[in-house]
Amino acid sequence: MDHEQSTGVDTVRSDILTVRGELAARAVDMTAIFSIIPWRPVVDVVFDCSMVFIAVVFSFGVGIAAFTLAACVIGNRQRALANLLHEAVHNNLYRTGLLNERFAAVFISASLTSDLGLYRRAHSRHHAFLGRQGKDPDVNDPPANVNRSWWIVYRDQIVSVQAWLGAIFSRLMDRRLTWKSRAWMGLWWAALIATSCAINGASFTIYFVAL
Ligand SMILES: [Zn+2]
Repeated sequence: MDHEQSTGVDTVRSDILTVRGELAARAVDMTAIFSIIPWRPVVDVVFDCSMVFIAVVFSFGVGIAAFTLAACVIGNRQRALANLLHEAVHNNLYRTGLLNERFAAVFISASLTSDLGLYRRAHSRHHAFLGRQGKDPDVNDPPANVNRSWWIVYRDQIVSVQAWLGAIFSRLMDRRLTWKSRAWMGLWWAALIATSCAINGASFTIYFVAL
């Protein structure tokens, strides 16, 4: 482990100790915080997927305004699923790493076309180098127009081909993605599309995938 990495890990450890110290000082119930409730992730996933399904059903064939609203609802629930994936990476959903991994692979990561292994590697760097430019993968490089108005920066993100490809294909564009992961995602989506076609018909399924 190089010096910078060990420094990053030390910082994370000291942050954890500070947070735990603050919680203890405020007499917060630590048992409740660290307890694992096995049914909770299941309820969360069912809720998120149900909201996505409801958004698709109620906007199907209604028009562009309903489509836009549904896209916002779905984006919001995808964010919630990504939060659950984050908890799985930290082994916070279940007691064992294997159970966290299997639950995330079947119910979360494939739906987001994300890969748990790649996410874990990137996320480890994020925590080890929290907020450090060029080292924390969650910190964007400052745009060339950093001193211009927020709208210019926002507009550049909207028209960024890279941002669109990342939003649509997520990890599918990542060359480090293994063929095993690609095969798993392909199977997962094929099964979902086939089931939807059989129950709801082709036009509904095309609309669902487009959303
Ligand atoms: Zn984290």
